[in-house]
Amino acid sequence: MDQHTPDPIHSLTVGEPAPPYLRDEICGHYQGRGKKAFAIVDNLRVKKYLDFFVVVGNEREYIVFDGFCTCSDFLHRGGRCGHILAMQIARVTQEFESYDLWFYETIIEEGI
Ligand SMILES: [Zn+2]
Repeated sequence: MDQHTPDPIHSLTVGEPAPPYLRDEICGHYQGRGKKAFAIVDNLRVKKYLDFFVVVGNEREYIVFDGFCTCSDFLHRGGRCGHILAMQIARVTQEFESYDLWFYETIIEEGI
């Protein structure tokens, strides 16, 4: 990834889904992780709780907080994984499900 290229995510407009040219730019910039991010956003798999964003993955849910994610891709490879990108896109375009709940309470109840 070229660190000198401006992050195309910053060009998104609040409350509007990514226009096709920007989608291409983001996918070009982030490659596979960008495509994965849009697959997540398009399927409304980003959920906003009062404390965290949670992204529904193929097998489980991941907590995304700031520049951190609980998935193995992020933990082992570093950098922004598809979940973090999806959250950053959805946060601007508002394409997320909103829950008036604290996610940490769910964690405590499930005993994770
Ligand atoms: Zn992740």
